[in-house]
Amino acid sequence: MMVGPIFVLAEHRAGELRDITFEMLTKGHELAEGLGTELVAILLGHEVDGMAQELAKWANRVLYVSDPLLKNFNADAYQAVLAHLIGERKPILTMIGHTAYGIDVAPSLAVQLGLPIATDCLDLCFEDGRLCVVRQVYGGKVNVRARLKEASSYIVTVRQAAFQPGEYGPLSGEVERVECPIKEEPKGRKFIGIVTPPPGAVDITAADVIVSVGRGIRDKENIPMIEELAELLGGVVACSRPIVDKGWLPKDRQVGSSGKTVKPKLYLAIGISGAFQHVVGMKDSELIIAINKDPKAPIFRFSDYGIVDDLFKVVPELIKQLKEIKGQA
Ligand SMILES: Cc1cc2nc3c(=O)[nH]c(=O)nc-3n(C[C@H](O)[C@H](O)[C@H](O)COP(=O)(O)OP(=O)(O)OC[C@H]3O[C@@H](n4cnc5c(N)ncnc54)[C@H](O)[C@@H]3O)c2cc1C
Repeated sequence: MMVGPIFVLAEHRAGELRDITFEMLTKGHELAEGLGTELVAILLGHEVDGMAQELAKWANRVLYVSDPLLKNFNADAYQAVLAHLIGERKPILTMIGHTAYGIDVAPSLAVQLGLPIATDCLDLCFEDGRLCVVRQVYGGKVNVRARLKEASSYIVTVRQAAFQPGEYGPLSGEVERVECPIKEEPKGRKFIGIVTPPPGAVDITAADVIVSVGRGIRDKENIPMIEELAELLGGVVACSRPIVDKGWLPKDRQVGSSGKTVKPKLYLAIGISGAFQHVVGMKDSELIIAINKDPKAPIFRFSDYGIVDDLFKVVPELIKQLKEIKGQA
């Protein structure tokens, strides 16, 4: 029996495709190959021809709907268009990012179409035609492997950074423009504007180098030392949750299950114990170095390098050495 295609909803902001798109396409490619079906990128927006061409390198087909009604993200409009495309093309699976956009669309889309959905998935596979997913429960303490009930089509949302964007192709997929199935703005919700962070605000998810600080820092007065180290390394300061709870750093610097997920080239964890709620947010960093005076601190299990010592000895020494290297001593 011919299996329907795998759909991946491309996510874009300010004219740029977001990383989650390529992460899902990579997993989607693997699944499509396994099932012997097509990988289809779905692109909704206005004047998105350039992005459609870019996606063609990553998928067998790009279905794109370009219409002024889709210029800005609107969950109701997206839902209506996706419901139309799923009804028409009957994908076996629709992958949507577990992002602010995705979690706004996916559940109500599944309800509208009466399809099984699994959210915040870390892994996906098909077994005997049924979708299996890996998800976390109990705040990330336990990974659960679940098999969804038999269905002709599934919807999932995929956690950011769960998959590495891989090397395959380029596929030179066919780009197919689809007429916009909605003719007027949805009544339920209205796009008002994009709220951007104030100038100078730091996006830790985009940083290559993160110097992250935890409760071991003892006092707010010691944070400038961490800022100095971050600056010397060309990085930004992030933190564990207690630092935010104490009001020493703003919430947008928090890494972890109730903060942000990061995957920089270097994650330097200073005075952080490595509670699982923190680790889920940084474990996919390329290089992890931890400084902690407790040799049994769980953070060392996730680190490439560990320094077992007092951070108040190690950090000033690192600052001194970096200044010497940079000729600032
Ligand atoms: C629902 C829920 C969601 C949560 N979400 C998050 C989240 O998103 N992010 C997050 O980070 N946490 C989160 N937490 C909290 C989490 O469980 C931990 O309490 C927290 O991560 C601990 O932060 P910490 O490592 O800075 O502090 P601690 O666990 O107190 O660790 C401090 C570490 O510093 C070391 N240390 C102390 N002094 C020194 C020194 N002089 N030199 C070197 N090392 C030193 C100690 O050995 C210790 O390992 C959440 C908790 C819950 C219940």
